Amino acid sequence: ESVVRNDFIRQIVREDLASGKHDAIRTRFPPEPNGYLHIGHAKAICLDFGLAQEFGGDCNLRLDDTNPAKEDPEYVRAIQDDVRWLGFEWHDLRHASDYFEVFFLAAEKLIRQGDAFVDDLTAEQVREYRGTLTEPGRPSPYRDRSVEENLDLFRRMRAGEFPDGSRTLRAKIDMASGNINMRDPALYRIKHVEHQNTGNEWPIYPMYDFAHSLSDAIEGITHSLCTLEFEDHRPLYDWCVDKVDLANSPELLEPLLRKGLPNEASKPRQIEFSRLNFNFLVMSKRKLMALVQAGLVDGWDDPRMPTLQGIRRRGYTPSALKLMVDRVGISKQNSLLDISILEGALRDDLDGAAQRRMAVIDPLKLVITNLPDGHSESLTFSNHPKDESAGTRQVPFSRELWIEREDFEEVPPKGFKRLTVGGDARLRGAGIVRCDEVVKNEAGHIVELRCTLDPESRPGMEGANRKVKGTIHWVSAADAVEAEIRLYDRLFVVPDPDSDEGGKTYQDHINPDSRRTVTGYVEPAAAQAAPETSFQFERIGYFVADRYDHAPGRPVFNRSVTLRDVWSG
Ligand code: ATP
Ligand code: MG
Ligand code: MG
Repeated sequence: ESVVRNDFIRQIVREDLASGKHDAIRTRFPPEPNGYLHIGHAKAICLDFGLAQEFGGDCNLRLDDTNPAKEDPEYVRAIQDDVRWLGFEWHDLRHASDYFEVFFLAAEKLIRQGDAFVDDLTAEQVREYRGTLTEPGRPSPYRDRSVEENLDLFRRMRAGEFPDGSRTLRAKIDMASGNINMRDPALYRIKHVEHQNTGNEWPIYPMYDFAHSLSDAIEGITHSLCTLEFEDHRPLYDWCVDKVDLANSPELLEPLLRKGLPNEASKPRQIEFSRLNFNFLVMSKRKLMALVQAGLVDGWDDPRMPTLQGIRRRGYTPSALKLMVDRVGISKQNSLLDISILEGALRDDLDGAAQRRMAVIDPLKLVITNLPDGHSESLTFSNHPKDESAGTRQVPFSRELWIEREDFEEVPPKGFKRLTVGGDARLRGAGIVRCDEVVKNEAGHIVELRCTLDPESRPGMEGANRKVKGTIHWVSAADAVEAEIRLYDRLFVVPDPDSDEGGKTYQDHINPDSRRTVTGYVEPAAAQAAPETSFQFERIGYFVADRYDHAPGRPVFNRSVTLRDVWSG
C-alpha cells in the first residue's frame, strides 16, 4: 500500500529545505538505555530514521545515558538490535555521556554569563520555593551569588567535595514564569554513583533538559522530534541552546575534538508529536518490568510482550510495523488506538508476504482405505495464491493423513460444511473423500476416520470439478513433522488494563488463555524453514518459526495473529 506521507513534521522539513534554512537534515533517536524498546518506540524510530531516509539526511542513534543508576549494557545491545531489525542504520552511534566534558564547560559559560548559580537549598526547599500553577515562585536566597563564588562552588561540586543532594546548579531564568519549567530549573545535581561509560569520573550529572538540548546541538541535529509531554519543556530547550550557543563557541567543543568527534554544532529545533498508545496493552517500562518479575510472562522477549523483542518473536515484521505507523500517521493529537489497527497491519502484511503451508494443530487420523499400504506420492502446491513468483513446493500425500478434529462432526450441526459420516469433503489439492466409517476407542472417543478417495477426483481430472461443500487441509501422517505450536492471544482481556477501577490493577486482567501450547503436525516444507520465517497455515492463522526454539527436526511455531479478528463484534 502506498501512502503519501504529508504530516506537519514533513511539511516543516520540506519548507526548511526549500527555504535553504538547511541543506540537509539530521535527526536522532535518543532512547534511555533503562529498558527494552516497545511498539511506541517503533513510531519514534520510523519517524526519526524514516524522515532522514526520505529527505536524504541522516539519523544518529544516541543513548541518552545521563542517568547513571538505571543503565544496563544488555539494553544497549537490544536497542541496536531492534533499530537494525526495523531496517535502519544510524549515521553515528553516540552516547550522551560522550559529552559530559562539553556540558561542564557549557555550565561554566552560563555561570560566567550570570545565567546559572549554585543553590544550597534542599530538594524539599526547592519544591517549596517553586510555587504552583497559580502562584509565582520565590527566588532562592543563593540566587545572587557572585560569578566567582558560583564558579568556585561548581568546580568543587565537580571535584566531589560535597555530598549527594547538598547543592545543585540551577539556571537563572524567571521564578515568576507561567511555565514552571522556566523557574530556575536544575541543570546539575550531585550524585556519587558509578556510570557505565565514565566510571567514577563524575560525581555530578546533568539534568535531562540541559543534556538533551546540548546533545542535539553538538550533533548538528536540525529537527529534534520528541513526544508531546516535552512541549512545555521547549522554552527551556531553546533557552539552553541559545544561551550556550555552541554553534558559535568552538572552545566548548574542544573535548569532542580530543575524542575524535567532529564539530558539527547547530541550532536544533524541537518538534513534538503524539505518543502511540494502544488499548489491550500496557507499555510503561515499569509495568513491563513488573510483569516479567511476577513471572506473568516468560521474560522481556515473551511473544505476548509489546517490546520489540517480544513482538518480533510473535511474528511481527518490520514492514507490518511500518504499515501500522503509516496508517496511524503523525499528529499532535494524543489518543488511545484500537489494538485491531496493529493486528490488522500484521494480517495485511503477512497476507501478501507469507507463503502458505499446511499444518494440523488438533490432529485426527484419516485413513484412505482404497489406497494401498505404503502408498506415497508428491503433490505440487503453489506457495502463494496471489503471487506466482513465490513458486511451488512438493507436499507428500499418502494413505494416512492428519486432519483437523473440528473438520469432522459425527452429528453435524445445521449448516456444517465439512466432513460427516457418509458425506464428502475435498482434501485440499488432493481429491475428494467420502467418510465411510468412524473408529472409536473404548471411551467412545473418535480416533480414526475411514474414507474412500474418489479416484476420478484427483488434481487435474474432470471429476475434480465436482461440487463439494467443504475443503479441508491435511498433512501426511508418515511425512509430517511433530511440532510444538504456541497459540498466543492478547495478554489482557480488557481494553483498559491500566485503569485502576474496582481496586484492580493490570495484573488482575491477564488473559488466562493468552498462551496455549499444543502438539500438532506440519508439512515438511514448514518444518524445514529457518527461524523467524512466517507462514499462513491454511485456514488456521499466521505463524512464525520461533526465533530461538525452532529447529527443522523439532519445529516450534508461534501464532502471530488469527486469520480474522475474533475479538471484535
Ligand atoms: P517509557 O516511558 O515507555 O519508558 P520513554 O519516553 O521514557 O518511554 P525513551 O527511551 O526516553 O523512553 O524514548 C526514546 C524516544 O522514543 C523518545 O524520543 C520518546 O519520545 C520516544 N517514545 C517513547 N515512547 C513512545 C511512544 N509511546 N510513542 C512514540 N514515541 C515514543
Ligand atoms: Mg525518557
Ligand atoms: Mg523512560
